Amino acid sequence: MLGRMMRQPLTIASLIAHAARYHGGTEIVSAETMGGFERTSWGAVARNARRIGSALRGRGIEPGDRVGTLAWNNRRHLELYFGVPGAGMVCHTVNPRLSPDQMAYIINHAADRMLFIDRSFVPAIAALRGQLACLRGIVLLDGRDDEAAEAIPGLLFHDELLEEGDPDAPWPEVDENAPSSLCYTSGTTGNPKGVLYSHRSTLLHALSANNVDGLAIGAADSVMPVVPMFHVNAWGIPYASAMVGARLVLPGPRLDGESLARLIVDENVTMAAGVPTIWMGLLNALEATGLQPTSLRRTIVGGSALPPSMRAAFRERYGVELVHAWGMTETSPLGTLNAPLAKHLALPFEEQDRIGNGQGRPLFGAELRIVDAEGHVLANDGTTEGELQIRGHWVVDSYFGAEKSSLTWDGWFDTGDIATIDADGYMIIRDRSKDIIKSGGEWISTVDLENIAVAHPKVANAAAIAARHPKWDERPVICCQRRPQSDLTEDELLAWYDGKVPRWQRPDRVVFVDSLPLGPTGKVVKAVLREAHGGILWDDAMAALEAEQVAAG
Ligand code: ADP
Repeated sequence: MLGRMMRQPLTIASLIAHAARYHGGTEIVSAETMGGFERTSWGAVARNARRIGSALRGRGIEPGDRVGTLAWNNRRHLELYFGVPGAGMVCHTVNPRLSPDQMAYIINHAADRMLFIDRSFVPAIAALRGQLACLRGIVLLDGRDDEAAEAIPGLLFHDELLEEGDPDAPWPEVDENAPSSLCYTSGTTGNPKGVLYSHRSTLLHALSANNVDGLAIGAADSVMPVVPMFHVNAWGIPYASAMVGARLVLPGPRLDGESLARLIVDENVTMAAGVPTIWMGLLNALEATGLQPTSLRRTIVGGSALPPSMRAAFRERYGVELVHAWGMTETSPLGTLNAPLAKHLALPFEEQDRIGNGQGRPLFGAELRIVDAEGHVLANDGTTEGELQIRGHWVVDSYFGAEKSSLTWDGWFDTGDIATIDADGYMIIRDRSKDIIKSGGEWISTVDLENIAVAHPKVANAAAIAARHPKWDERPVICCQRRPQSDLTEDELLAWYDGKVPRWQRPDRVVFVDSLPLGPTGKVVKAVLREAHGGILWDDAMAALEAEQVAAG
């Protein structure tokens, strides 16, 4: 016997239909690539989504075909987010911060049929055009532009393509398990791998991620996703926002602290989301400009560990709550988010704060465990560290184009992170397994060392790396970017660790750098730092040995 309820497929078309029907007049603000702002609405986005979907079908793009985008967070990109999967095709968001070779690799690997690009990427795509044989067309996300047309022969224009489409075109029937979007991991090791989300996984992710202990976006919010739309569907925020009819403020290409601060103030942003480096920039800009983000209540921070000092600064100086979340491309991305339990509310502030600084607990639909190197499941006692594994409704099974499943024999996905989990399910990322420092058989968390360094008033940013060591295998070294005009010395920063970590975890050296290398998703690329500075302790030891030998005659 089956239940006797209606069965409607969980599709992205149903999301935009809802936003148009019940929130059609709600505004979408879009910072445009070439400057200035445009204002549209969920109703207009829905009509243009139908237009673009039907225009693509009219040009012979088939269900399941991949349609690439190379674009910032803006209104036309949003139209593709709904129009492409709504019409049964797959929206493949390409990360423009990848190297040209990697970009060409993933466009070909995905076999994109069409590619929609923002004006900023015309030169890059003009240069790569010869390597992109899979494409039947390239579309500029703008009106007609003669200069761009000259750079890319045959270039089409989004606004003209819209005219070919029908604003009332019915959405085709789409199986909820059909693919909706494709996102590649950033490929810090090896070639990027594609994660192919389905309509169902995307809808379940949006439904669950947006509960009150989750993103908690409501119709009265003005939401600014700073996390790029080319990175894990901007953490699903466009979809969660359509589901509740929130106002969106899309920040476009200018993501420096001051531009974001002005946008928050001018557009009364109530909720935002992005990686810690972005909020570091915003914090500095708020201090420098004196702007007050009075409308902003909460910001979701993830992608790399949120330094507790930054969380405290936003709370104490601006009354903004920074909510820590964890996830990855393979998990759509939200795995955990930090919201308190009832029993936590009675705890002293310091204890609540300690819990709030962690990555939080799983949302409904995701489950976590930690295992040892042999795969034995470890205790959830809040102190045992192990390799973090996840399973759930929106977790990858196998990568796009791969034959094999990527799961363990018993159906879990290995995240590559090292974590602890406590009895209530609160998880703390200790490190990435490839970054953690293995000193004489003991592990030292680079996250801990970085949190301490960035809390120093003279430090702008810092990364801890494993440096090779003749006796301990690896020892910690801090790569530190000082604040402008700061006179911070190595001894001063090393002394700052006294009493904050056990002695054996204290870094051995500090290397001052002008800036930290950031990868395509705004995270510090530690492999580059290890390459540049990972030999420093070894060299010190060799020099000391030589000096000893000289002294001994
Ligand atoms: P990549 O950076 O490899 O391209 P993702 O963008 O999918 O991949 O990032 C996933 C990884 O980012 C996680 O496995 C984890 O190491 C790190 N990460 C994400 N959120 C957090 C967080 N809140 N704290 C610490 N690390 C995080």
